[in-house]
Amino acid sequence: MKGIVTNIQRFSIHDGPGIRTTVFMKGCNLRCFWCHNPETLETYPELQIFPDRCIGCGECFQRCPNEAHVMQDGQRIFRRELCQGCGTCAETCYAEALVLVGEEMTVEEVVDQVLRDKPFYETSNGGVTLSGGEPLLQFDFAYAILERCQAEGIHTAIETAANFPWARVAAILPVTDLVMMDIKLMDSRRHRECTGVPNERILENARRLGEQDVPLIVRTPIIPGVNDNADDVAAIAQFVATLPNLLYYELLPFHPMAKSKYVSLDLDYRAKDLKSPPGEQMDALTRVAAGFGITARHG
Ligand code: SF4
Ligand code: SF4
Repeated sequence: MKGIVTNIQRFSIHDGPGIRTTVFMKGCNLRCFWCHNPETLETYPELQIFPDRCIGCGECFQRCPNEAHVMQDGQRIFRRELCQGCGTCAETCYAEALVLVGEEMTVEEVVDQVLRDKPFYETSNGGVTLSGGEPLLQFDFAYAILERCQAEGIHTAIETAANFPWARVAAILPVTDLVMMDIKLMDSRRHRECTGVPNERILENARRLGEQDVPLIVRTPIIPGVNDNADDVAAIAQFVATLPNLLYYELLPFHPMAKSKYVSLDLDYRAKDLKSPPGEQMDALTRVAAGFGITARHG
């Protein structure tokens, strides 16, 4: 069985307890305008272009079977609509100005990489985390990886937006030791404006997840002008406080580090002018959340 992976990050400490290996899977069914992993949004391999690194060797013009790279009026042009993501140009670009993001991998290839750091998981109570993108979009692939890892005695976690019918969310739980899910806003209309989807199904799944035998971490990315205020955080925290199996609630500050990724993919970065919320603001919002009697922290 194969799936598409954008990156496998070893020694990760922000994606669950202990030292972890995080597998970033390609494809997401939300479109949060602040997304800091835009390379994971689409389900297929994509070419990233970093013109600053280009040394003008012209190799890519020769290699692309679809003539996606052309020179017009002395300027190099990339016709993305012609690119089929074969990766040939990226393989031959010595300057690494072209990078294919999204590699087809087998379950065995992913698990082999995860197993390399097993001693570190054991000493730190870490494990493997499937992230993205949205790992449940490639359900069979995700399930098989988690099942294999669990069989090896490795702690398993998923990071999900839970924007699926409950049956799909429930079906991953037998091979999942920890669920981390986002709740970005309680107001469905504003949620749709910011993420492209309403939140009724997400909240219903959160309620159901809260009743399962698997620990749950809820996280909220704090986005300036969206939910960086006491009212929105209080509304989410009030809801989160009703979830019986909550481990803790975490606020994650927006960071504007994704700009170059958007440029490399020819995507519009609507959050490019936003700034990270200051530490004092994150402290204050965390206190608001903790006021609902839950363990709250910020990243
Ligand atoms: S192969 Fe790479 S370095 Fe050479 S022209 Fe193409 S993008 Fe530039
Ligand atoms: S990835 Fe393949 S199709 Fe796309 S530009 Fe490169 S060589 Fe052409």
